[in-house]
Amino acid sequence: MSSSGVQPSIFSRIIAREIPATIVAETEHIIAFLDIAPKAPVHVVVTTKDPQYHNVVELAAGNPSLLAELVAVADQIAAERTNGQFRLVFNTGTAAGQTVFHVHAHVLGSSTPTDSLGEDSLGAL
Ligand code: AMP
Repeated sequence: MSSSGVQPSIFSRIIAREIPATIVAETEHIIAFLDIAPKAPVHVVVTTKDPQYHNVVELAAGNPSLLAELVAVADQIAAERTNGQFRLVFNTGTAAGQTVFHVHAHVLGSSTPTDSLGEDSLGAL
């Protein structure tokens, strides 16, 4: 447990290397790893190392340049791993499917030029 008494998120534990993940990109402020339960052929979670923002709305209000950096890393991952077309999803709120309250984006894409993303990639993220 942290000094604030709040349990670190699962993503903070990945950032601290306390639990394993397949990390695919990392900068000073951002880390990206393969989603443990992929909803598309390419499914990467991109998150901030700073855990203080619980969702994209808080991040946009509190640190817009960090949001821009997150999006840039997501775009780089998509360029490397998808057919060039991808979804960038920020679930916001429990009813919208958010389960980890540490701001993150899902990069969802197909890995081959002919594949398209089905609606399954949007459901129950
Ligand atoms: P959300 O439901 O939008 O909050 O997204 C949380 C995502 O984190 C889900 O897609 C989970 O599959 C993913 N996830 C949870 N635990 C892990 C983990 N240990 N390693 C990688 N991805 C995870």
